[in-house]
Amino acid sequence: MTHNQLPMILIVDDAPLNVKILAQSLESLYRIKVANNGEEALKISQREQPDLILLDIMMPKIDGFEVCRQLKKNTITRKIPVIFVTTLNAEADEEQGLNLGAIDYITKPFVIPIVKARIRNHIHLKLQADLLESMSLLDALTLIPNRRRFDEALTTEWKQAIRHKTPISLIMIDIDHFKQYNDHYGHGAGDICLQRVAAALAKMIVRPSDLIARYGGEEFVVILPDTNQQAALKVAERLREGIEHLALPHTYSEAATVVTISVGVATQIEIQEYFSPKTLNDAADHALYRAKEGGRNRVCSD
Ligand code: GH3
Ligand code: MG
Ligand code: MG
Repeated sequence: MTHNQLPMILIVDDAPLNVKILAQSLESLYRIKVANNGEEALKISQREQPDLILLDIMMPKIDGFEVCRQLKKNTITRKIPVIFVTTLNAEADEEQGLNLGAIDYITKPFVIPIVKARIRNHIHLKLQADLLESMSLLDALTLIPNRRRFDEALTTEWKQAIRHKTPISLIMIDIDHFKQYNDHYGHGAGDICLQRVAAALAKMIVRPSDLIARYGGEEFVVILPDTNQQAALKVAERLREGIEHLALPHTYSEAATVVTISVGVATQIEIQEYFSPKTLNDAADHALYRAKEGGRNRVCSD
């Protein structure tokens, strides 16, 4: 494991000596970040999303309890485990901390082997939770993001588009005559075809802010934030052409001699607060329907 891949721990304490003791005993196993006050702790947590936070309670201005409260309120930092650092025999503090959603507490003065063991256990659980979470957002067959991930991303991007007054486009993709493909080549070959198409589509989606997902069965969807209709149509045409050029034989398609896709594009400019992403979804669906009606292996827009 390179240093960059090590789990990250944020130590929050206004007393430099405490920070030093903790940092020194942990730095060979973890990437260490330090915050000397609550405000800084919140900033770093939001920006770096550490795997664990060691949070001192007694700090001037924003104390540890308040930091914890704010971390748990924010969707970006909510899942980061917090361990409170308390002084010995402060049971009331420990209770309050645990009630605020902290996962554990360690006491000062530190017993280093115990601190290290506790941290190791919590980091282990955090990494496992992260792995499960990322798996739950991937489609098992094609290994691209699944419908759940798509729904989450669309909600997020929709809000961004409102906030920044930017357009947003959606591309709906459906493989042509795929039932025929399954019927003649078998379901196993159908699965492999889906994997190839998904991989090819994913490779053609190059902007980091764009997201491609498997929408269901032989349908895929792409979210294009900050993209107008003209640009979205270009991407859609590139995808259509790319799949045709894969040249996966499909003798039983009426649209071509190879596997092809039909594509629907919808764009929303100037989103109003009362619009919903469903409108965009429906518009893309409708455009896709027209692409099918128009003879398949083509792109239509709303
Ligand atoms: P159209 O051009 O109108 O889209 O025709 P189509 O045959 O592609 O559409 P239809 O909706 O009739 O059939 C979709 C097929 O996709 C039927 C289903 O068996 C197949 N399919 C859906 N999910 C999977 C999958 O995970 N693996 C395989 N092998 N086939 C799947
Ligand atoms: Mg379909
Ligand atoms: Mg189809």
